[in-house]
Amino acid sequence: MFESLSDGLQSAFKSIRGKGKLTEANMRDGLQMVEQAMLEADVSYQVVQDFMAKVTQAAMGQKVLLSLRPHEELVRIVHQELIEILGPVDVSIPIKAGQVTVLMLCGLQGAGKTTTCGKLSQLLKEQKASPFLVAADLQRPAAIQQLHTLGEQLGVPVYSDLNEQDPVKVCRAGVAKAKEQGANVVILDTAGRLAIDDELMKQLCEIDKKIGPDQVYLVVDGMTGQDAVNSASAFNSALELDGVIMTKLDGDARGGALLSVKHVTQVPVKFIGTGEHLDALEAFRPEGMAGRILE
Ligand code: GDP
Repeated sequence: MFESLSDGLQSAFKSIRGKGKLTEANMRDGLQMVEQAMLEADVSYQVVQDFMAKVTQAAMGQKVLLSLRPHEELVRIVHQELIEILGPVDVSIPIKAGQVTVLMLCGLQGAGKTTTCGKLSQLLKEQKASPFLVAADLQRPAAIQQLHTLGEQLGVPVYSDLNEQDPVKVCRAGVAKAKEQGANVVILDTAGRLAIDDELMKQLCEIDKKIGPDQVYLVVDGMTGQDAVNSASAFNSALELDGVIMTKLDGDARGGALLSVKHVTQVPVKFIGTGEHLDALEAFRPEGMAGRILE
């Protein structure tokens, strides 16, 4: 068993490194290890099959087998295919001209939603948009305060209503306030739970149905591996997602889970969070992520 996808792939590459000239059998052994590493990392079967078909075709050619450094060739081929399945790239946030665009962020508690609301506000300000935050996470009173603190730091208005128990009403009032104040992008910070539950999903579906956000982004914690995949699957069944933001990729996490999250949701990865600071949000680059997985 491998600790992670990265470890598994490294073992596969090691198995053919230093062999000099490779036989087809050597290469097949290496490829089998690549496949095993991906399956053990819970990359879905279909993704692995497609991935392996392409990698095998590229790796079994004479050009690779007869090259002086077949090991490096295989790394290059795997890198290229990882880029393919992590794409296509679409890191834009579509903003409607002359109207208010509503973005809804959802995810498990602790995934980094509130922080990401702040980071997106900062990014939007840099793009000359006029963001407005709505504190619709009524599960965690600290989240409301956290959003106000972020808003103050950024000079971005924040709407909250401590007396209101219904997040739909908070969102509706927040959007109205944003229009009144001339903001053009509203970001809804919704509630999370430590684990998926029906109540949470019902609440999010209500917000989605009644407020009709233009974009729904799922925030997943890159440190949580398979949990990120399970939560992505649950949120994806309940909501029509438009993008994924994976946080906490400043730590040791290599981000292998993103392959499965991407497959489960079939939506573009928009951004990655690379720290607690408000500027630690990067537009997603498949090349960078593929390199990180192979580090
Ligand atoms: P929420 O419950 O989903 O709203 O999560 P929070 O935004 O409160 O974030 C939970 C914790 O993760 C906080 O301590 C954040 O500072 C931290 N956090 C969020 N994004 C990142 C990130 O990209 N990198 C790191 N290292 N920490 C992050």
